[in-house]
Amino acid sequence: MQNDKLSDCLDQFIKHCKKFDLRITPQRCAIYKKLIKEENHPTAEEMFNIVRKEFPNISYDTVNRTLLTFAEIGLVDVVSTKGGPRRFDPDMDKHHHFHCIHCGKIVDFYSDEFDNLGIPDYFQDDFTVYTKRVVLNGLCKKCRKKKGLKDRNIAIQNKK
Ligand SMILES: [Zn+2]
Ligand SMILES: [Zn+2]
Repeated sequence: MQNDKLSDCLDQFIKHCKKFDLRITPQRCAIYKKLIKEENHPTAEEMFNIVRKEFPNISYDTVNRTLLTFAEIGLVDVVSTKGGPRRFDPDMDKHHHFHCIHCGKIVDFYSDEFDNLGIPDYFQDDFTVYTKRVVLNGLCKKCRKKKGLKDRNIAIQNKK
């Protein structure tokens, strides 16, 4: 992330916290700052290991709780994976995900076509949709190579 984008993000962070009456502590700031630098949708455990380098006394519980609080006020997104631990996504801009079913990696991708996918009419009778994200499941390049698979087919599944 570029530096100007980073300071934009921090401005947004501070505004967002104020709006929701969340006290801006050095720990919370550090957790958010480190999270937006991560591109691989880290778990709470991974974030704990990153943050404790700067705050050796911080507990896993604090990091986990902080991330969940961020999610509650809409500052970050929670990404759940089948059977895996929940992951956190600081990128609240429109984007979609590719999940590698072998190594668990989640990669962001952007597609105008997917952004513009419509919601079926019958669905809108019963539900109000706020957000939409397409999730593709399959094998990443590395895992495909490891498994010697050339299969490029991917199961498409809509999430949210
Ligand atoms: Zn993989
Ligand atoms: Zn993402």
